[in-house]
Amino acid sequence: MLKKLFKSLNTPARHPQHRRTTPEVLNAGQHSLQRSQFSRHAVGIVERLQTAGYQAYLVGGCVRDLMLGIVPKDFDVATSATPEQVRAEFRNARVIGRRFKLVHIHFGREIIEVATFRANHPEEDDEQDVHRSSSSESGRILRDNVYGTLEDDAQRRDLTINALYYDPVSERILDYANGVHDVRNRLIRLIGDPTQRYQEDPVRMLRAVRFAAKLDFGIEKHTAAPIRELAPMLREIPSARLFEEVLKLFLSGHAADTFEMLVDLHLFDSLFPATTQALEDTPTYTHTLISEALRNTDLRIKQGKPVTPAFLFAALLWPALPARVLRLQSRGMPPIPAMQEAAHELIAEQCQRVAIPKRFTIPIREIWDMQERLPRRSGKRADLLLDNPRFRAGYDFLLLREKAGEETDGLGEWWTDYQDCNDSERREMIADLGGKDESGAPRKRRRTGAKRSKRGEADE
Ligand code: ATP
Ligand code: MG
Repeated sequence: MLKKLFKSLNTPARHPQHRRTTPEVLNAGQHSLQRSQFSRHAVGIVERLQTAGYQAYLVGGCVRDLMLGIVPKDFDVATSATPEQVRAEFRNARVIGRRFKLVHIHFGREIIEVATFRANHPEEDDEQDVHRSSSSESGRILRDNVYGTLEDDAQRRDLTINALYYDPVSERILDYANGVHDVRNRLIRLIGDPTQRYQEDPVRMLRAVRFAAKLDFGIEKHTAAPIRELAPMLREIPSARLFEEVLKLFLSGHAADTFEMLVDLHLFDSLFPATTQALEDTPTYTHTLISEALRNTDLRIKQGKPVTPAFLFAALLWPALPARVLRLQSRGMPPIPAMQEAAHELIAEQCQRVAIPKRFTIPIREIWDMQERLPRRSGKRADLLLDNPRFRAGYDFLLLREKAGEETDGLGEWWTDYQDCNDSERREMIADLGGKDESGAPRKRRRTGAKRSKRGEADE
């Protein structure tokens, strides 16, 4: 029903200007790009291919980013040459992918990706093939794909700002989708009819949000309009692909803004259903904890510090735990096993949507387990915890919970002091704990019997 409504809003006739068959051409004087801003290896590849008689351009993210004064992550080349023809030109070239082949040209650490012009396969989710072919270990069947002309290649791209072609030889930009206009007006706009393009590949909804947050662009209204209605289509996307997309969304350096947009456009629900429930049950706490975690991630990325996806997922899922723990406890399960079981269930359920690999789910559990252990500090326990390789993440996570308003009886501050102290001061701090050790346990809500939790502790 609503679909119809959006259809009427988004008839292709309303977007004729975004489907051009002849490009707008911007000469060197009409734009700010300079050949020297691009990777010299990528420019060299384009020159070589053109000399050999092929069409070749720098395309996509690098053109867009440089127009905006952003340092590009990588440099992609699009060409009329087939992968075999590209390989014949370069010694350092490797063909990757099974059905839809790409060429990677290696220059030490730098890899330039060279793709042959492609056409959109109507009704087909073509772009997934590129991502899948680069992760062929997933064993998924790749769909057939077809090579196309430069025009086809421009039309099959997702956003107008991603469909700009730069020729470093003539220093001209070819613009088939009014991308230059949208770069200048800071607009995220899908090429073609948005509803149809989202139906072809629902991940484009996530990409629209990702680039809006990353570039601080607005989402053009026809591009935004169908998203809430079509968001549930994300459930059809393979969970492994969604994991990659989620990482890109939250490791973009703009995760806090991305999160707000995902929630607003109902996309978060399809990615993190349990957390969405927590956002309804305990809105302030859940929202604060996640935003704090994401702001912190953004800051670390800006400072060039490493970020671990496990910490991110631990935070994104943590607010969904209490309801599950309580449910299991109400069925008679003691608190600690209930916590373990709830964690297990939650992660298993989440992995159905977003396939978090084991190398991250294990540390997520460890960060959560650490929350049970940090309150118990007597005897040698505090020192053992300090030596635990997961201590730092567990401690940071504790501070995060406190920031979100969880009552921990000053546990975070205690651990902050403890780390600063010398040995004898530490012994004093432990002695000072007295009986406070067990009673200072956080998440009191979940602990109905203090005696029971002591029993659980003996397992450690
Ligand atoms: P960045 O690498 O900085 O995140 P990018 O624009 O290079 O940005 P990629 O994900 O590397 O993004 O994709 C390369 C290009 O492929 C894009 O610019 C876009 O033109 C096209 N593309 C990627 N995914 C899709 C998709 N799902 N549908 C249509 N086109 C896509
Ligand atoms: Mg890229």
